[in-house]
Amino acid sequence: MERDRNSVACLFALSFCVVLALPSLGQQNSSIVPNNFKLDMETAARLRPQLMEQSIPAAAGRYATGQQVFAKLVGQAELPAGLKVTWELRIVEDGMLNSYASPDGTVYVESGMAQLAGSSAGLWAAILAHEIAHVIGRDWARRYLYQRSLESGNAGIIVLDDPGTSPGSWSDSQKASADLGRFCRQLEVDADRAGLMLMARAGYHPDFVPALHHLLHAEESGATPSSLNAMHPCWEERDRELSAAYVSESIEFDHRWPERYASPGGNPPIVVFADEPKVRRMGSSQWEIQIPLRCQNLAGAVEVVLRAASAHPSLTRNLSEDSLEDANENVRQLTGCTSPKTTITFLLSSADRPRNSRWTDVYVVDSWGAILTRTDLPKLTR
Ligand SMILES: [Zn+2]
Repeated sequence: MERDRNSVACLFALSFCVVLALPSLGQQNSSIVPNNFKLDMETAARLRPQLMEQSIPAAAGRYATGQQVFAKLVGQAELPAGLKVTWELRIVEDGMLNSYASPDGTVYVESGMAQLAGSSAGLWAAILAHEIAHVIGRDWARRYLYQRSLESGNAGIIVLDDPGTSPGSWSDSQKASADLGRFCRQLEVDADRAGLMLMARAGYHPDFVPALHHLLHAEESGATPSSLNAMHPCWEERDRELSAAYVSESIEFDHRWPERYASPGGNPPIVVFADEPKVRRMGSSQWEIQIPLRCQNLAGAVEVVLRAASAHPSLTRNLSEDSLEDANENVRQLTGCTSPKTTITFLLSSADRPRNSRWTDVYVVDSWGAILTRTDLPKLTR
């Protein structure tokens, strides 16, 4: 059952995965969906009974925030001529961190993701606006048509594990997979961009999008490196691709909602962008670590925490916020992060580190200890 559910979810283009950054293609590969194309709606109708059985309506009490935000967003959504959908929000109670949209207008949020958004209307808006944008953009159909065009021009597509594949078609199929990966990553960034516009119109500050991306990235500590042809851009790539849209949609938001606190999503959240830390070896067992930070909407201070994790990989998973509070294992520093180019410097020696562990991550947490962002720390070599 679990496998069935996952394969159904994959058909609707998963939204939130970590993958390798590659340059985007721009708009040139965006296919147009012909008016008479119906396979997306037919597939949605075929899979609907199974998806309904595995999910519950969000209207139920504890997902009320999500339901209210969804209603506000779809109220602002403009459907292209000829596209008919029935908007509905459903929750898949499996504890996973994902969300996906069916072409028929049903958006599914897995309960781990729903819990991450909690009672924050802004975080719900960041999740839902992206999925609504996939439906409006008919992205399932665009992806299907692009894949078909690769197949007809390039017989080797999606046969990477075919034992009979010859070396020639192997390289063709590799190229086709890379092309499809790039196309899908572009669909994701386009959905982020269209979602930002929808959020600004409906009254949710665009800064909730990077805030959500950073929370999801923080959940991925110790994740295995992604594959070259992965279908989703990594969080850093998304931030980079969206930086201009964050600014323009923030201006749009302020124009429409001059009293930010009175907007449906309330004041924008604290957002911290952490660049890749720079490590310099200072002596036989001493290192200087510099972490460039940029903070938005911050009135107080944030804390930068270097986390030491057990060298045993199985113990580095399931990071809880508790483990960030363990004063013996982590090194921390407070900052007001007032400059647009704040750099936090740590001097570390191997004596600071608990035995059998290594420094793995940099976390930035707010004054209540809630995680704002995370970045990997390069390995400290002797
Ligand atoms: Zn997506």
